[in-house]
Amino acid sequence: MKMIKLLWLSGITCNANTHSFLNYPFIEQFLNDFEFIYHPVLDSSYTLQEIVSNEIECDVLLIEGSISPEFQRADVSIEDIIRKYAPKVQKIVTVGTCATFGGIFSQSDYKDVTGLHFDKEQKNQKFENLFDKTISISGCPIHPEILVNTLYAIKGDIALRLDNFLRPKEFYAYTVHNGCVRNEYFEYKVDAHQFGELEGCMFYDHGCQAPFTHASCNKILWNEVNSKTRVGLPCFGCTEPTFPKANLFTTKKNMGVPENLPLGVGKRVYLTLAGITKAFKIPRLEKKLLDD
Ligand code: SF4
Ligand code: SF4
Repeated sequence: MKMIKLLWLSGITCNANTHSFLNYPFIEQFLNDFEFIYHPVLDSSYTLQEIVSNEIECDVLLIEGSISPEFQRADVSIEDIIRKYAPKVQKIVTVGTCATFGGIFSQSDYKDVTGLHFDKEQKNQKFENLFDKTISISGCPIHPEILVNTLYAIKGDIALRLDNFLRPKEFYAYTVHNGCVRNEYFEYKVDAHQFGELEGCMFYDHGCQAPFTHASCNKILWNEVNSKTRVGLPCFGCTEPTFPKANLFTTKKNMGVPENLPLGVGKRVYLTLAGITKAFKIPRLEKKLLDD
């Protein structure tokens, strides 16, 4: 298979996606299969100065971090660097929620901070001509396996089906709730949870956004072993355009009903099911899992 040349461009970022990417368990193999013409922390074929002063051959442009017309790299506007390389590449990948939706840096002092194609849920026009060649890998940070599998799909000319935010459905058609080991507690409405403990679902009181967050965190485990909800922390919805929200550890409710319900579940359905499950008490689910 052809060696694919990657350009990793950093916008306004904390570099967490780079850190997460470096945790990919088979990074040595990846680096044998792809060449970074430039990456901010990995050995690369060119310096950033050479990248901005010349037009180097490249197949995939990866953008990490939010974009603002004021923001520069090597004294060149990030938007001009994108305009220079985007027409030449086969694909553009927005790496993380900031590059995709603007993310946490939307609240920074830079002017007009957005993602490449979206300002939260709103589509922006600036780079509209690049829409058809972009794939969004949202997440704060990205899941390394999802980024790497997407890059291998590009390398293998495998067409990925994308959702409305250009995220590959293979990874983002699921919700984080799919595969969580606490599903039984969810079904019987047991949220007697203490953070970090094995028992209880965190949807009802502790802010878990997994039933309405598109990602595969409980299907493709982090570091191949675990996920946030499995270890006892709520999902913060970091792959969604609305990230970050406030009060991440509490469930916002109206008259006792969570403001955000699982995707596709109407209030009437929710109340009917809640009424039924409330009538039952399952002693096994009230106990500590590992106690005798
Ligand atoms: S803790 Fe979150 S992901 Fe797990 S079952 Fe409850 S709502 Fe779903
Ligand atoms: S569990 Fe939720 S907050 Fe955590 S990484 Fe996955 S999508 Fe993001």
